[in-house]
Amino acid sequence: MASHNPFEMVQKQLAQCAKITNMAPNIYQILQRPMRELHVSIPVRMDDGSIKVFQGFRVMYNDALGPAKGGIRFHPEETIDTVRALAGWMTFKCALADIPLGGGKGGVICNPRELSQGELERLSRGYIAQVWPFIGPEKDVPAPDVYTNPQIMAWMMDEYSKFAGKHQFGVITGKPLRIGGSAGRGDATARGGMYVIREAAGECGVDLANATVAIQGYGNAGYFAASLASSLYGCKIVAVSDSKGGIYNKDGLDPQLVYNHKTESGSVIDFSYADNISNEELLELNVDILIPSALENVITENNAPNIKAKIIAELANGPTTPEADDILYEKGVHVLPDFLCNSGGVTVSYFEMVQNLYMYYWDEKQVQERLDKKLTPAYHSVLNASKECKVNMRQAAYVVAVNRVVEAMKLRGWV
Ligand code: GLU
Repeated sequence: MASHNPFEMVQKQLAQCAKITNMAPNIYQILQRPMRELHVSIPVRMDDGSIKVFQGFRVMYNDALGPAKGGIRFHPEETIDTVRALAGWMTFKCALADIPLGGGKGGVICNPRELSQGELERLSRGYIAQVWPFIGPEKDVPAPDVYTNPQIMAWMMDEYSKFAGKHQFGVITGKPLRIGGSAGRGDATARGGMYVIREAAGECGVDLANATVAIQGYGNAGYFAASLASSLYGCKIVAVSDSKGGIYNKDGLDPQLVYNHKTESGSVIDFSYADNISNEELLELNVDILIPSALENVITENNAPNIKAKIIAELANGPTTPEADDILYEKGVHVLPDFLCNSGGVTVSYFEMVQNLYMYYWDEKQVQERLDKKLTPAYHSVLNASKECKVNMRQAAYVVAVNRVVEAMKLRGWV
């Protein structure tokens, strides 16, 4: 069975890219590993008076294109290799969206569901106390990711500003609107994915108004994907899921009612107007568009042969293994790779940084139009590279992104 270590996935994907682009060995050597990584211990006073020490990471993968950018995950199974992989994907994501930023990622091994609000705040501030010399608006700018949210960003920005001795809104993105957040950041990941799906549907001849959609995951990305696919394009959302399981209704689900049910009960399962299904069943449903919006490694060589979707739009990071990629390409499935499909989040984060810098804020419509102007060309540059080099969409995305990073490294005189 193939390895499901995400960093090994990045290594495999990069090796393919090095081959396709005939990459020079010294460039390959730089791109194969992060340029810097921090491992920190964070002592936190718990509500019962005891001290618990949490482990955290911040990885700066490559900053040839500009300050590093990427989220912070709070997850019980976080590993340094996952953070390395995600930092690498951020590097290529920013390059592909054509924004002047490098790639980074952070993580803390913890289960936020088991922490009180007070403990969560002290952990968030404690993380910044450890990493602050290495982050900053002109160095490395974190953001939300799995199990982190705008409130956590607010605490982190506040803590960093104390260390810096001045207001530093631009140190972190995904903040609440009142303290330097951007309009349109909340649904940006899913909305960016919708623009990419719109272009892909045109390419594949899928009529979105009659398309069926299955979505794995119902967090920030999955919920907004359901809601926007139905409100913008009239797609029928037939299945959604979360970590506890999935639900299916061939006549379609109302995304808002499912959201309300999840908020009340803690999960999408046992929804009155649907049948329960497993996450595995959801991935193999006979739908036009499959949107993995949860975690890594869910489409593997084991289930890829059974996938029936015409388009896979990866809102999650790393949902498809390299072995599954080969199978899907053979089958003619149009895969919209993660660092293309989910780059709406970081693109609006970049807009947030710009607005923080000049302290003047755009309205939601401006944000959405500018997002579309970034992601539509990104899709077409990947599609063209895929046709020109006769490689799958992920390899094509690597070719386009890596070429941009390499150009910056050469201009800086690194290689
Ligand atoms: N966590 C998001 C991602 O994986 C957004 C990162 C950011 O906004 O910096 O793309």
